[in-house]
Amino acid sequence: MIQKQEEHKPEFEYLTEQFDDIRILRYQVPAFESLTLREKIFVYYLSEAALAGRDILWDQNNCYNLQIRRLLERIIREYKGDRNTAEFQELLVYAKKVFFANGIHHHYSMDKFLPAFSRAYFRDILIEMGIPEVFEDLERVMFDPDYMAKRVVLDEGKDLIRASANHYYVNVTQAEVEAFYRSPAVPEECPVSRGLNSTLVKENGELKELVWKVGGKYSAELSRVVGWLEKAIPYACNERQQNVIRLLIDYYKTGNLKLFDEYSIEWLQEVEAPIDFINGFIEVYGDPLAYKASWESVVEIVDREAGERTRKLAENALWFEQQAPIDERFKKTEVKGVVARVMQVAMLGGDCHPATPIGINLPNAEWIRERYGSKSVTLDNITCAYDQAARDSGGLDEFAASEEEIRLAREYGSLGSSVHTDLHECLGHGSGKMLPGITTEALRNYYSTIEEARADLFALYYIMDPKLVELGILPSADVARAEYNSYIRNGLMVQLTRVKLGDRLEESHMRNRQTIAAWVYEKGKDRGVIERLEKDGKTFFVIRDFETLRTLFGDLLAEVQRIKSEGDYEAARRLIETYGVNIDRRLHEEVLKRYERLGIVPYAGFINPVYTPVEENGQIVDVRIAYPADFLTQMMEYAGY
Ligand code: ZN
Repeated sequence: MIQKQEEHKPEFEYLTEQFDDIRILRYQVPAFESLTLREKIFVYYLSEAALAGRDILWDQNNCYNLQIRRLLERIIREYKGDRNTAEFQELLVYAKKVFFANGIHHHYSMDKFLPAFSRAYFRDILIEMGIPEVFEDLERVMFDPDYMAKRVVLDEGKDLIRASANHYYVNVTQAEVEAFYRSPAVPEECPVSRGLNSTLVKENGELKELVWKVGGKYSAELSRVVGWLEKAIPYACNERQQNVIRLLIDYYKTGNLKLFDEYSIEWLQEVEAPIDFINGFIEVYGDPLAYKASWESVVEIVDREAGERTRKLAENALWFEQQAPIDERFKKTEVKGVVARVMQVAMLGGDCHPATPIGINLPNAEWIRERYGSKSVTLDNITCAYDQAARDSGGLDEFAASEEEIRLAREYGSLGSSVHTDLHECLGHGSGKMLPGITTEALRNYYSTIEEARADLFALYYIMDPKLVELGILPSADVARAEYNSYIRNGLMVQLTRVKLGDRLEESHMRNRQTIAAWVYEKGKDRGVIERLEKDGKTFFVIRDFETLRTLFGDLLAEVQRIKSEGDYEAARRLIETYGVNIDRRLHEEVLKRYERLGIVPYAGFINPVYTPVEENGQIVDVRIAYPADFLTQMMEYAGY
């Protein structure tokens, strides 16, 4: 008998570099390896389509973006002068920040970047390259802090369209935009998303839409996207998916928003294919009035193993509902499995790259959601990459109380947080019911925090249930212990690193996590369930009794479910205001100092993998995947798209 050799696999490096407030990570696509050739070719064509629309987004973000990007690319390629000076290094950092943000404004804060090199240096470079005239074109937009200062302005009292530096509108005021897109007095049955795919301009006193379509604005880019989509059609996973792609192409060719809705409905109903994608003008965060959508694309592959987990949970949904530690009056008697699709990202493009979401729920049109529902996609390998990078950054070692806690986290932390998410999304939100006559509006501003707490508590209660080991979802209760440790650590300490000293918690997920962690800490205090200790001036929270902690999560779930089912506003207010809003200033200060010493920065984004077709006699016989490790190199390669 031949013994299988132990393969030595070098560990994948998730974090590749850090500059300014940005970390650059990589993600892996293990699911790609087990695809058939046909499926791999499909992924390849969709990935090319995902990259082909990149310039659209750059132009949407600001009218100078493409000019500045091309100049930076040219300097990086051709500059013959000394590259080892501090100023040239500052120019590289500026370029990387611009590449990362798809433009000259920060992707999150929306504030314009100011170069750390001088105007004089910039002018010298341009003279050396023989293009001195460019200085005059770009001096103001690059160096004047007050000119085009913010991409999206949301301050009340300003003309938001005039004040925002995006490029969705030309020469129009907020009042003109609002009048132009005002909804008709008689509500339509299937209203299209007005203004979604056009630039609104005023020429000779007249307002008109430049529609983004083949033959219209962004024609060159959209033609390339369409070209790749056409190649992809014969490789689609099923007929319905072929139809999805055809509808998208027709929409890109006509700009007809009715076709976009048809495409969206067909897309959300296609849930069988092992490969899925998003490609289009989707999210409206870049427009202060939320009419215009930025171009984005994601290509994803089903994560079969994770899909197996959610399938088992969905099959047993009624069992979980019946066993829940909540009042019988608030239980559902029939549960429809809500299956969110667990996917691995294969390619990110447009507004999803380099910064990316970890989950997507589309379409956005409210009437389609009400009538046809929506499709929810969890991007598992992105979450995993974040987890791994966090583990490697030293954050775990800093805030975990013992070697044992670190060991559990390294071994089971990723699985624990994935299963927590599965339970939260697939079962938690869908469980329980309201008493007759009660609506979610009763809880007003506390609703989303209560709802997130309910789903989290459902997950925390059940992740420790022997049923999960029995179903083969977890190998042992150690996974649940790792998740409990992580939840308490995060809820009481780590998440405070995202809040400024002196501020209160505002965001509902953060409020929910602190509410839960602080509540169980206090209620278990006299039984020593969670111990607070200090070592060398550092605070730690150690779970001493996991079983009792689980019971406490159950008790709070019962109360939070009661609050929701009865619409008890006063109890919701008291619970959240007592536990989830205020921050212990001394602890906050300590946590921020410990975090700062680690040098971890707040934002992260990704380098994409590269797919290379292998051809023989004009036929693709294989598609290879590679994981490049240098951000700037990838950005320079994308210059050619
Ligand atoms: Zn949730």
